[in-house]
Amino acid sequence: MRQVHIVGNWKMNQTTSEVDTFFKELGDLSEVSAQAWIAPQAIHLDRLLKFPQIKCGAQNCAQNDSGAFTGELSPKSLKDIGAHFTLVGHSERRSIYKESDELLNAKTLKALENDLVVIFCVGETLEQREANQVETVLKSQLENGLRGLNSTHIGKVIIAYEPVWAIGTGKVATPEQAQQAHKYTRSVLESIDGFSAQETIILYGGSVKPDNIKGLLSNEDIDGALVGGASLKGQSFKDLCTQAQ
Ligand code: PEP
Repeated sequence: MRQVHIVGNWKMNQTTSEVDTFFKELGDLSEVSAQAWIAPQAIHLDRLLKFPQIKCGAQNCAQNDSGAFTGELSPKSLKDIGAHFTLVGHSERRSIYKESDELLNAKTLKALENDLVVIFCVGETLEQREANQVETVLKSQLENGLRGLNSTHIGKVIIAYEPVWAIGTGKVATPEQAQQAHKYTRSVLESIDGFSAQETIILYGGSVKPDNIKGLLSNEDIDGALVGGASLKGQSFKDLCTQAQ
């Protein structure tokens, strides 16, 4: 049985007072069975650790534990302060910061070495979808980004399928499109070391809102959501978690 996960990606948003308002609105989640996780800006991680109703993690981390990497975030230090997970390979990291599959692979391995759960993001652009390349793109991002894993990593990597054309656009994938991509992703994981494909949590991301999450989660291979915009307000995040029951 795969547990539903709702993961908020706050990106470069939220001041300290907005964070406090978020948690006032969110209140307690004891009635909610889904796992509720949030990736705030790194400067707020310490603040989020005080709220036991969620687990917090990073939006990105470095491929090294320490050293001359100005502006980077050490996975060792993330673990040290109590972070639970890190995103790796979000499409904004791939496109704006030109992070390659090779770099994302190194980041994944280093995060795992530091006992962080990795949420590894994959997804095609609109151009690639229109050229019927969805499966080719997913296969290549998964195989190249997840090289070198082994049986000790089983259960430590979550996949987030996020079609780039759906992120922040209000254009959510249909439940059928998402299910098809998730099912294919699961089939690719069968042949990658470090995964028990049937048990791997695969999240959908891309314009998920409280009013469309139920339709997405009713599909067999969709185990939760990675949510940007709709995770910024406490009430909306709570509604996502409640709808995901
Ligand atoms: C994201 O940032 O990963 C995301 C899915 O954003 P949004 O929900 O705003 O589309």
